[in-house]
Amino acid sequence: MNYNKKTVKDIDVKGKKVLLRCDFNVPMAKDGSGAITDDKRIRAALPTIQYLLEQGAAVIACSHMGKPKGQVKPELSLKPVAARLGELLGKDVILAADVVGPDAAAKAAALQPGQVLLLENTRFEKGEEKNDPELAKAMAAMAEVYVSDAFGAVHRAHASTAGVAGFLPAVSGFLIQKELDFIGGALANPKRPLVAILGGSKVSSKIGVINNLLEIADTIIIGGGMAYTFSAAQGGKVGDSLLEEDWKDYANDMVKKAADKGVKLLLPIDTVIADKFAPDADSKVVKAGEIPEGWQGLDIGPETVKLYCGAVADAGTVIWNGPMGVFEFPAFAKGTEAVAEALSKTGAITIIGGGDSAAAVQQLGYADKMSHISTGGGASLEFMEGKELPGVACLLDA
Ligand code: ADP
Ligand code: MG
Repeated sequence: MNYNKKTVKDIDVKGKKVLLRCDFNVPMAKDGSGAITDDKRIRAALPTIQYLLEQGAAVIACSHMGKPKGQVKPELSLKPVAARLGELLGKDVILAADVVGPDAAAKAAALQPGQVLLLENTRFEKGEEKNDPELAKAMAAMAEVYVSDAFGAVHRAHASTAGVAGFLPAVSGFLIQKELDFIGGALANPKRPLVAILGGSKVSSKIGVINNLLEIADTIIIGGGMAYTFSAAQGGKVGDSLLEEDWKDYANDMVKKAADKGVKLLLPIDTVIADKFAPDADSKVVKAGEIPEGWQGLDIGPETVKLYCGAVADAGTVIWNGPMGVFEFPAFAKGTEAVAEALSKTGAITIIGGGDSAAAVQQLGYADKMSHISTGGGASLEFMEGKELPGVACLLDA
């Protein structure tokens, strides 16, 4: 996939109506009050919106929220988003009552440069998730330029994320541009050595990422729950740890493939085990592959921490996906925290992908020390798998 795409800076938007796909899928309070519990995604969209307004564009923003499945669900209206976006921008945000219906069309037609219109939840339309060309065409008809800044949705070929680009000149906003620069840059032309740290819960959910990074990286570090499948595959005892029997052969294949390719593959040499899956479990450190029955591995051990932190110290680029242990329990967050700290100290470009990994880095207080934390969970995984992202592929090449 070509990661080199035109951005808002490469196109003239003065006096034009710009359809801007955002990711305003924000968490809402469960009590039905319409309160937004975290407005991070709305704030993240501000630089592109402000830039477009400064350039003299009229902005028609759109986004999905939740899973209304083609039905109008009042509890999934973007009304609270319009209000919050208005507060953050310091100007009124006009909300359309529909996506491409008469209200949206009339409000889009009347929109003036410097004004912001927000369309209703794109998934209120049945054609959205089907990438219906009629819907895409109707959305495009309201605008003259399409800007995509919804990185969290680029792995989906929907009418508002991909289809619409067939009808308008299409470029990226600043959020997508940064994702392409960092993740795309690391995949296509990394500053070496490239070290990939892979963890999280299951091997099976990371196969695509392991396969792809094995082709690109100089060193691959395995931690988290998936490490026990590698250990068991090599004949180790893993007790009650997370184990995917069906993936043992795959794990061995990967070890062999790494050796054949000259990629350094590091596996844990010790592990922190617990007598139950709980924050207050009894714990001790044992050698990898020597976990007694009744115990389970919940974190990498101190010798492994030293090995892994040493491997990132002189890296040129580090891509990290998947926590090293059950970081949600403070007693088993040490491995993840040590790796985060090591990343904060290296001179390498540091890239964090994956929803839980981003949450871990944030929770442990290292977010502002990383070069890039991807804003898309599923999208960043598919990106690291080397898959084509429909919402990126549809943009104009630079
Ligand atoms: P990401 O969202 O960053 O791609 P994953 O979803 O693959 O990451 O994995 C995150 C989860 O993996 C976390 O909830 C963490 O508790 C869990 N995890 C990490 N290590 C272990 C382990 N040893 N045993 C069980 N779960 C683990
Ligand atoms: Mg996850």
